[in-house]
Amino acid sequence: MLTQSLPVVITNNAKPPARRVKYINDVAQIPGVTPQDLELLEKVSQRYVFRSNDYYLRLIDWTDPKDPIRQLIIPRGEELNDWGKLDASNEAANTVDTGVQHKYGDTVLLLCNEVCGAYCRYCFRKRLFMNDNEEVSKDVSAGVAYIRRHPEVTNVLLTGGDPLIMGTRRLGEIVAELREIEHVKIVRIGSKMPAFNPMRITDDPDLLAMIRRFSTPQKRMYIMCHFDHPRELTREARECIAALIGAGAICVNQCPIIRGINDNPDTLAQMFATLSHIGCPQYYLFQGRPTAGNEPYEVPLVEGWTHFSKAVVAESGLSGRARYCMSHASGKVEVLGVDDANIYLRYHRSKYQQNNGRFFICKRNDDAYWLDHLTPVEGSYVPFGVNFGQPAR
Ligand code: SF4
Repeated sequence: MLTQSLPVVITNNAKPPARRVKYINDVAQIPGVTPQDLELLEKVSQRYVFRSNDYYLRLIDWTDPKDPIRQLIIPRGEELNDWGKLDASNEAANTVDTGVQHKYGDTVLLLCNEVCGAYCRYCFRKRLFMNDNEEVSKDVSAGVAYIRRHPEVTNVLLTGGDPLIMGTRRLGEIVAELREIEHVKIVRIGSKMPAFNPMRITDDPDLLAMIRRFSTPQKRMYIMCHFDHPRELTREARECIAALIGAGAICVNQCPIIRGINDNPDTLAQMFATLSHIGCPQYYLFQGRPTAGNEPYEVPLVEGWTHFSKAVVAESGLSGRARYCMSHASGKVEVLGVDDANIYLRYHRSKYQQNNGRFFICKRNDDAYWLDHLTPVEGSYVPFGVNFGQPAR
């Protein structure tokens, strides 16, 4: 008979509870909103939905009416201006089934969720958040079957909306299905959660375990992060990136240039540098698509490229290896340079075989926001599938 009591082993498995943000969907809950502002904000948010959370709103300096984080998340009356198209780069033309886009041979997009951690005011997919949207499918079985039938597809991007707003179990099931397809090498998740709610990632061991399982040395998972401003790179956001890298994911960043948020070389250079330090280097800086509701956020092409070209030479090579691109309906068009007379461009990816890799030159136009607003110079290659010479407004 055991007479002596056994030593009590104290395990320290108890984890701190996951930190949760409090979502805010009503503009009346915005701190300091005045009754005069409220009427306009309600009108705007009825058309283009508002959503944020207490973590993200805490990044705002409310004493500064031009605070960049405030511009990014708080609706503005000018969003109601008549400008741009809801589907500015004609994603409808690449849709092969509900929630499945196939524009470039090797890459398929699965739009698997229509909700985001918060809503960026300048979003180019804001049509997805409108009531009559039918472009997203939470059931990805048609998309997975399509990818299975297309052996040329080596890359799949989970997007939306934000896939990381989904439950980890469901997301894991989708990734597991994709990992069963031999020809799919890279699975990407496009997400702004590292900026909007980094604790969603850092505090979810199941999510990190899922990434650890499916991001292997032979077939990596990429997290396509979306930071727009250095102030989003908080301690929490850095911990989130460290957790993702620790789980075996490759992190990169892509974002548009946005008026009032990152439209100056110093802000861009600081963000590119910090991102390179933490292992999430900038991949693309996008020219904003001329999307309905986005007029107050858009920067003309020449101005945007000028800021970018100064930012990329300000720091080390790794922080400056991004490309400046337009995601045009005809393909991803890189802006290579601008001089007094011309804009020099190249198809980085093209929807049409004949444009692939093609270099071409357009006349400089400082009012242009988009490829269609430009005009090719005489003697230049004229790309297929572009409606050149459109007015900028
Ligand atoms: S996170 Fe992406 S999809 Fe969501 S609102 Fe922002 S830009 Fe749009």
